[in-house]
Amino acid sequence: MTDPVRVVFLGGLGEIGRNCACIEVAGRILILDCGLMFPDLDMPGVDLVLPDFTYLREHADRVEGAILTHGHEDHTGALAYLLGDVSFPLFGSALTLGLARNRIEEAGLVGRTSFNTVHDGERRRIGPFDVEFIPVTHSVPHGFATAFHTPQGVILHSGDFKLDLTPVDGRATDLARIGAIANDHGIRLLLSDSTNAEEEGHTDSERSVGRVLAECFSEHKGKRVIVACFASHIHRIQQIADAAVAAGRTIATLGRSMGKNVAMARAMGLLSIPDDRLVDIEHLAARDPGSTCVISTGSQGEPMSALALMAAGDNKWVSVGADDLVVLSSHAIPGNEASVGKVIDGLTRRGAEVIHSGLAPVHVSGHAQRGELRTLLSVTRPWAFIPVHGEFRHLTHHARLAVEMGVAQSRVLLAEDGDVVELTDTGIDFAGEVPAGYMFVDGIVGDVGRGVLRDRKVLAEEGVVVVVVTVDAKSGEVLTGPEIITRGWVYAPEAEQLLGEARQAVRAALEEPAEEGAVDAETVRRRARSSLGRFVAERTRRRPMILPVVIEV
Ligand SMILES: [Zn+2]
Ligand SMILES: [Zn+2]
Repeated sequence: MTDPVRVVFLGGLGEIGRNCACIEVAGRILILDCGLMFPDLDMPGVDLVLPDFTYLREHADRVEGAILTHGHEDHTGALAYLLGDVSFPLFGSALTLGLARNRIEEAGLVGRTSFNTVHDGERRRIGPFDVEFIPVTHSVPHGFATAFHTPQGVILHSGDFKLDLTPVDGRATDLARIGAIANDHGIRLLLSDSTNAEEEGHTDSERSVGRVLAECFSEHKGKRVIVACFASHIHRIQQIADAAVAAGRTIATLGRSMGKNVAMARAMGLLSIPDDRLVDIEHLAARDPGSTCVISTGSQGEPMSALALMAAGDNKWVSVGADDLVVLSSHAIPGNEASVGKVIDGLTRRGAEVIHSGLAPVHVSGHAQRGELRTLLSVTRPWAFIPVHGEFRHLTHHARLAVEMGVAQSRVLLAEDGDVVELTDTGIDFAGEVPAGYMFVDGIVGDVGRGVLRDRKVLAEEGVVVVVVTVDAKSGEVLTGPEIITRGWVYAPEAEQLLGEARQAVRAALEEPAEEGAVDAETVRRRARSSLGRFVAERTRRRPMILPVVIEV
């Protein structure tokens, strides 16, 4: 009998973000990506959402290392937190490691890991793991699919991928190698990207964006052109730069991550912009705007980003007006639509012309659509299948697609965050659960928890009413108050009378005789809270947060 191989899903199955899984062979753990998620609108004040790392902390001595499939933050951004608790080496392409390094460096945790570059097609032993790194195309260069050659057969993880047949850098998804593995060994289990599992057809090639960008430039001669995109989308940056250079323009980058990534990608030979065509943003002002191009961050409407500041008229370097064309070469991530809309509105109000993906094909997705997902299923012909990287509905559609493509229904598992799946000699099945809830990060404080979020929502939607009473410590007699202070509850003109009545309601409740002798501070607190809560609910039909403060003297 061969030892079972386990896959533990810590994040990314049920949401787009915080991708993290563990592959377990011979009792050892290899982490597969370690990403973060950006908060929804219903998570007020939350900066980031992380996977729950309880399982990894409890088994820290079994962690062999982490594989990073590519450099996006939903796959690497949580390392800066996990490495504080668990120390292990990282494996990925040079660009992936370079991108991941930023946050780890900022957190001062570089000493807790090592950065091990792997190359296209390389097969490497990491402890008991035998791992093969296969090139895939995606919206950041040098992404990998990963083949784990295990005692229970090959587990193939697609990574974030699309099948771009004409990639900007000529590095296509290596379907031939994937097919060879399927022929030689068979693929026991396929884990595949479900982001676009609802979209029929094929994603357009990244190259198609280049043609549209070139048209934007030629149709707006004389105007300054500002293009915003993800700072990690080196191929997009290449195409913006190519279009700008072809139109005889000089380029400057705007936004810290854009400047950093452009410099890194040029140093690695992944981005080619002639030296004499790239200047610092402070040197761009002296030039004729019609001969310049700004490549900026902020395509997701992030409040303090370069583009948002331009829209607000607050950018130090670029003041946007009627002589500007702004191109958002991006698509709003779910949750960011409102912020992006606001930025577009601000830019338009300043007189700029704005082109976004709703108006012209200035963006293509980096994720495979159904046609490409079918192709991967037909090339791999997996024995078992688990859809990954998606919200529940994406996973469901992808699971159905796999069944249509001939994978046995009983071996298509709809796994979610926290599920443990085991491959054994006899089959594949769920084998327990581990903690996998959302960990909310606010500033430098760790997990803020569900309770804090609930409080913030009440405060935001209903406001707060504070009642302050001073009582005699011995007798419980009210000495001063009750005083009532509110924020965000009622509008001032109506407040005076309402507050007076509220004071009376609380005072009446506090003056009720105690049932068993002296009244203690806790009873006063309870009575103040319940009487005020009742009054507020009856009179205003609202449920603000009620905070009783009892001072004993
Ligand atoms: Zn990605
Ligand atoms: Zn992703």
